[in-house]
Amino acid sequence: MIITESGKISDELYVIGPAAIPVYLLDGPVPVLFDGGFTALAQLYETAIREILGSRKPEYLFLTHSHFDHIGAVSHFKQAWPDLKIGGSLRCREILSKPNAIQLIKDLNLEGTKNLKKMGISPLHEHPFESFDLDILIQPGEKTALSPQLTLTGLHTPGHTRDFISYWIPEKKILIASEAVACYQNDGSVQTEFLIDFDAYLDSLKIIKTLEPKILCAGHHAVFTGEDALRHISASVNAANEYLAMTEGFLNKGKGDIDRTVSSVKALEWDGRPWPKQPESAYILNTRQRVKTIWARMNQHSGETS
Ligand SMILES: [Zn+2]
Repeated sequence: MIITESGKISDELYVIGPAAIPVYLLDGPVPVLFDGGFTALAQLYETAIREILGSRKPEYLFLTHSHFDHIGAVSHFKQAWPDLKIGGSLRCREILSKPNAIQLIKDLNLEGTKNLKKMGISPLHEHPFESFDLDILIQPGEKTALSPQLTLTGLHTPGHTRDFISYWIPEKKILIASEAVACYQNDGSVQTEFLIDFDAYLDSLKIIKTLEPKILCAGHHAVFTGEDALRHISASVNAANEYLAMTEGFLNKGKGDIDRTVSSVKALEWDGRPWPKQPESAYILNTRQRVKTIWARMNQHSGETS
């Protein structure tokens, strides 16, 4: 099944907030959150989490990566639940201490707030993003016991970003892959999510495929279960390869003109896509990064053969 609505996914797993910018909640003796969404949606997430947990509290919040739309509400959660332990990678911690990165995360969350307002979503938490520190550093491959019956393993799955960690709950075959897999768009298309390293992204997908998840939680818009989980992993590989071929074509034609290639890709991919979609400046930032990654890869490969 492909689930594009928020709410209950299985006995213990929930999509919290709009499915486009979700926080995942794994309920159980030790309730766990994954990712921190938009700053503007902080109150919406908090209310929905309290509705499910009642007087209980989330104990952990694990972060996949430090992009603005995955960590926006974390400092609000920390205020709401002061004992909440935040986990992420060492690189994620490093990014969260850089003034330039914090400013960019603030700016993009502000733009996200404007888009949510246009869409009529309320209540909106109109405060700037605030940075925070991690309580737990996740070592790839290391198992954390969530309860006597449940463990969690962080997997280093780079390619989208360098700080990326996916979370695997083997007893339930749940994988919080976020943007280590492609994003399912609300027009049915699939957006590849490699940014900084195309080949590492495909290698990460190979690791994800071997796990054979029964529930696959993507970064935005959809959760995949059963056969659709496996199908989406294959679709993510195909989307990455198709994107590579398309962009190499534009770059060859434009003799490496990055700006022209970004415009050509955007016209094909983003312009006609219906809202809610990734805000324009975040989309352009990501597309520019993908195009630059492919251009560097083309030059490296031509260097290898000459
Ligand atoms: Zn991201």
